[in-house]
Amino acid sequence: MLDIKIVKTTAPKAKPADESRLGFGKIFTDHMFLMDYTPDQGWHDPRVVPYAPFQMDPACVVLHYAQELFEGMKAYRSVTDNTIQLFRPECNGERMQNSSERMCIPLIPVEDYVQAVKALVEVDKDWVPHSDGASLYIRPFVFATDVGMGVHASHNYTFCIICAPSGAYYAEGIDPVRIYVEDEYIRAAPGLTGFTKCGGNYAASIKAGAEAEKQGFAQVLWLDGVEKKYVEEVGSMNIMFKIAGKIYTAACTGTVLPGVTRRSCIELLKDWGYEVVEGKLAIADVMKAGHDGTLEEVFGTGTAAVVSPVKELDWKGDKVFIGGGKIGPVTQKLYDTMTGMQWGKLPDNKGWIVPVCAG
Ligand SMILES: *Cc1c(COP(=O)(O)O)cnc(C)c1O
Repeated sequence: MLDIKIVKTTAPKAKPADESRLGFGKIFTDHMFLMDYTPDQGWHDPRVVPYAPFQMDPACVVLHYAQELFEGMKAYRSVTDNTIQLFRPECNGERMQNSSERMCIPLIPVEDYVQAVKALVEVDKDWVPHSDGASLYIRPFVFATDVGMGVHASHNYTFCIICAPSGAYYAEGIDPVRIYVEDEYIRAAPGLTGFTKCGGNYAASIKAGAEAEKQGFAQVLWLDGVEKKYVEEVGSMNIMFKIAGKIYTAACTGTVLPGVTRRSCIELLKDWGYEVVEGKLAIADVMKAGHDGTLEEVFGTGTAAVVSPVKELDWKGDKVFIGGGKIGPVTQKLYDTMTGMQWGKLPDNKGWIVPVCAG
């Protein structure tokens, strides 16, 4: 149990009047969570304090060698009883430990992680949006704070959590996206950091995303980094393919980010009697299925969108179109079930919802 000190702001900001214009990650709440790590004291001084900029030495390790990682989750306001609730926060805590281990960052116990998230969300509970589909995006992150050059593990770190009230992802209805299958750049390779949410992964992906965007694609689909043959995931989502009734997705063997949404969708799909194959799926086979009419649905999974249906895949000039540009029935059922639980419209018979406090 952390002994969290709470210092409330004396200058609360005005809350956004129009929740339909929140967007994503643009404005932040009144408070943030902080905790420091030193070799002598370990993780210490957990506190919720007014949201404020950091002061940093220009030689701070994270600015040069990117020793850091982050998480991404949401708090939801139940439409049934106004409870503020989280979705499987312990999964994010476990994933942060796996990221930390790879990045040589000292681990934070999962219980402490969840307690910290809850403490901040409770203080800022009035910032959790009220409108349908809107939520409070939560961004925990840890970074190295040693000052000085030299590539080695920092001795000192800061753990911070900030929150951004965010609008409904599908404010204008669910719109299937076009995806560019990336054939030049790679995101991950065995032995690298693909399974971690470390900033470096995203820095390395920006160029491919920008080039695809120029051509009107929403995201890139990454292939494996060795042979560029097997599908892995998209920018910030895992991806699933329904081919002839079966669901296929890449296995989480080190190069793919193990999404909480991915894992939850797989559990639901299995509950509903679908066969889910986690393993190697060649892009050539996906395109072939697209051409012979057995590629029934393609969708990304991630906290931000929950599911994101794909209507088109372009690989080396070959194109396949999926589902006539409309969301497929399995994608829709996953969306309805996941968002139903998250916003308290459906009973949580999986034990995935963790209440924080009364709204
Ligand atoms: C965050 C992320 C995901 C999705 O993870 P969730 O826990 O479902 O939000 C998938 N792929 C990448 C690269 C990500 O950064």
